[in-house]
Amino acid sequence: MEKGFTITYEYGDNLYVNPTNRCNFNCEFCLRHNQGSGGSIYTHNLWLKREPTKEEILASIESHDLSKYKQLVFVGFGEPSYRIEDICWVIDQMKAKGEKIYTRMDTNGTGSLLHGRDICPEFAGRFDMVSISLNTDTAEKYDALCHPVQEGAYEAMKAFAKEIQKYVPTVMMTVVDTIPKEEIENCRKICEDEIGAVYRVREYIED
Ligand code: SF4
Repeated sequence: MEKGFTITYEYGDNLYVNPTNRCNFNCEFCLRHNQGSGGSIYTHNLWLKREPTKEEILASIESHDLSKYKQLVFVGFGEPSYRIEDICWVIDQMKAKGEKIYTRMDTNGTGSLLHGRDICPEFAGRFDMVSISLNTDTAEKYDALCHPVQEGAYEAMKAFAKEIQKYVPTVMMTVVDTIPKEEIENCRKICEDEIGAVYRVREYIED
């Protein structure tokens, strides 16, 4: 694998795609801060010397035997929705060839905010699942934790989580298990009662 150009990587049962290092957040907990390990995650270095083209992303995915994996997950070291158009192109190419792998995007949920348009319809027929980081239970805590570039990111993320359910069969919202119990329960109510998504408390992975 070319140094500084890890486009796809295996983790668990899935194949992950690293389409960009751009992000409109600067989360306190972001694995990208772990410089001690050279910016590694799951033993892969995901800092890209440049963004891969859509053709390079497709070629990297197709270099794997996809029947080995449960899911193809677009995430990486940055916010994948920056590349939504190219990702859609990649998935369309794969589907045109009859590929049926389960597709997922892990996102901070501000794709529509950062693009200045509703990107939700673009997920239709392309993604089986979207997982959105809910992180916390108030906009104030969210801003302090994630430092979003745009104002109103928390409300925009929640609106995205509601809207995307029209287009994607499974929409999940996640928090990590290191936040206080009360906050975990508040987030459960926001996810299940207010938004109607599937709730998951995930284990915090340090690096
Ligand atoms: S949204 Fe993800 S990639 Fe961006 S700063 Fe937060 S944890 Fe890191």
